[in-house]
Amino acid sequence: MNELLVFMCDGAPVRGEIVSISSAWQAVLERRNDPPAVRQILGDFVGAATLLSASLKFDGTLIIQAQSKGPVQLLVVECKSDLSMRATVKLSVDPKSISPSATLGELLDAEHSGRLVITLDPANREPGQPPYQGIVALQEHDGEKTKAVSSAAEAIALYMQNSEQLDTRIWLTSNDTHVGGLLLQRLPDSGGHAHLDPKTAAEGWKRIQTLGETITNEELLSLPPETILRRLFLEESAENGVRSFPVRQIRFSCTCSRTKVADVLRMLGEEEVQSILTEQGAVETICDFCAKPYRFDAVDCLQVFKTDLLSDATRPPSSGH
Ligand SMILES: [Zn+2]
Repeated sequence: MNELLVFMCDGAPVRGEIVSISSAWQAVLERRNDPPAVRQILGDFVGAATLLSASLKFDGTLIIQAQSKGPVQLLVVECKSDLSMRATVKLSVDPKSISPSATLGELLDAEHSGRLVITLDPANREPGQPPYQGIVALQEHDGEKTKAVSSAAEAIALYMQNSEQLDTRIWLTSNDTHVGGLLLQRLPDSGGHAHLDPKTAAEGWKRIQTLGETITNEELLSLPPETILRRLFLEESAENGVRSFPVRQIRFSCTCSRTKVADVLRMLGEEEVQSILTEQGAVETICDFCAKPYRFDAVDCLQVFKTDLLSDATRPPSSGH
């Protein structure tokens, strides 16, 4: 069960999504060995990334990235608009030193420096044109007091409030085998729900939220999205029905390649690569997302740095020669 379901309410200006991921999440985990508290946060963000990707209005990739001075140095979840995803975490401490009850604030917001960066990167982006990025602080300021955001859901809700300007409610949960999530978003009154007067629209949004609040983590982790949808909105009457779109599949997929590793070597520079070759005989690396090993020996490296020369050589000779 790796399913995402999008639904619309007829009697309320609400669009919603329900996600349930099992084997695709297990594919992320089997390549990793993260402590339970870290695994939980990563799982919640995997749920968030799939929910946000499903509302992308273009073909591209959504990237959730958290960087901190805390035990989690870097956390990255990428999900494409076809719902293929990958995820990784880099720790700055011994995994055994992380308590199973460590909070998101403790792991990602040390010294209140935590930031969540959400990038929307269209597939057909022009070279040189930057992707869209939204940045959210992982802490809330209440007068003098600063308080760490307590969950991935809270962090994503803050982001949605700032970037989309649409009221959004999000529920996320995960364990060793499953990820589940529910998203409710209030649509602008002027859109497809123009037939609802403002009072009915406001009441509808409130009613759907109240129904959403009855969801339990247990249900999100064990039931298929279609069953959850039926259970949640049983009370919506026939004329106030809920319409769902065909279920979409989520899968684990890594986009790493030898060509991309070669690009990294080129960025490191010939001198640096030469010194690794002298020291170790070959450049060896493992993909952070899927653990696939890549090896470039001296001949491969020569090839990597020859590319520029080759493209020069294939250029048509200039006139006068
Ligand atoms: Zn990979």
